[in-house]
Amino acid sequence: MRGEFDLISKYFAPLAGPEGLGLVDDAALVSPSSGLDLVVTKDLLLENVHFRTADPAASVGHKALAVNVSDCIAKGAEPRHYWLGLALPKGLDENWVQGFCAGLRQAQDAFGCTLAGGDTTRSLSGIVVSVTLMGDLPAGAMVKRSGAKVGDELYVTGNLGDAALGLWWLQEGREGPATLVKRYQQPNPRTGFSSHLRRFATASADVSDGLIADAGHIAEASDVGIVIHKDALPVSTEAQALIAAHPELESAIWSGGDDYEVVFTAPPAMAPEIKRAAEDLGISISRIGEVVSGENVQLLDLNGENVHIASRGYVHF
Ligand code: ADP
Ligand code: MG
Repeated sequence: MRGEFDLISKYFAPLAGPEGLGLVDDAALVSPSSGLDLVVTKDLLLENVHFRTADPAASVGHKALAVNVSDCIAKGAEPRHYWLGLALPKGLDENWVQGFCAGLRQAQDAFGCTLAGGDTTRSLSGIVVSVTLMGDLPAGAMVKRSGAKVGDELYVTGNLGDAALGLWWLQEGREGPATLVKRYQQPNPRTGFSSHLRRFATASADVSDGLIADAGHIAEASDVGIVIHKDALPVSTEAQALIAAHPELESAIWSGGDDYEVVFTAPPAMAPEIKRAAEDLGISISRIGEVVSGENVQLLDLNGENVHIASRGYVHF
C-alpha cells in the first residue's frame, strides 16, 4: 500500500471541504457563524468489535460517519465537518481504503458534511476508525438528555430491532432479508429531522445501545422515570416475520443496538406538530410511552405487567 501522504492526496483530499484547506496544512480552519452553537461528537469503530472483517469496506466508511451523524441529529444539530482518524494494519490491501472512501463519499453527500482533516497511522492489530463530527444549530437550541418532564410523552423515529436482527443473520452465516442486513451495515440516521426535533423535544438521545438503555440515559439525566408500552414499539414486517419464527429474538426490539433512530420526549400539546414533522419527512414517529415521576425505565405488556428485561443494552466494559 502507498505511504500516508499518497493516501491523503489520492483518497482523502477529494472528500475535503474548503475548511480542510486541501489537506495540505497542519490543521483545518472553521469559521463559526455568529448566532450558532457548535455540537461536537466522536465515535471509535474497531474491527471485530463494531464491524466485521468481512463487512464491505464501503459499509464501514458509511457507518463510521453515520453513527456520528446520528448523535448530531439527536441533539438537534446539522452535520457540517468531520475529522477522520485511521489506523491501518501493515499489508492491508489498498482496495480496502478505496472502498472505505467510496462509502464515506456516499455518506457525506447524503448527510451534508465534508472532511476537514484527520490523522493516518499504522495499527499493530486490526483496523481502527475514529470520526469526530462537528455540527451546528441556533445558539441555545441543543436538545439535551436532561430536559424530560413528568407528563411528557415518549416517541421514537422509524423501526426498532432491524439492525440487531440483521447482525443475527450475519452471525448465523446465512442470507437474511437484505433490508435487515443493510440496517446493520449501513445505518441511515434521520437527516432533516434536527430542525423539527429542536422545536418540540424536551430531551433526546439517539438509539445506539438499545431503546431501554438509551431511554434510560434520558431518565437518569432528567431525574425521572420512563414507562414504555411494548405493544406500541414500531417493528418492521421483516423483523416481525423473523421474531415469529424465533420468539427468543424478540428482545432485540428493545435491547438490540445499532438502530440509530431518535428517542425523545415532548409535551402532549406537541403531538400535532410531531405528526406534521413525520409527514413532512416521510418517516414514521411512534408514541411509545410517557415520562413519570421516579427513576428507571419500565417496559409494560398489554396487561400492564412488567416485561422482564434480561439485557438493558450493549455495555462495553
Ligand atoms: P501533522 O503531521 O502536521 O499532524 P499530517 O501530515 O498528519 O499533519 O496531515 C497532513 C494533512 O492531512 C492534515 O491536514 C491532516 O488533517 C490531513 N490528514 C491526515 N490523515 C487524514 C485522514 N485520515 N483523513 C483526512 N485527513 C487527513
Ligand atoms: Mg498528523
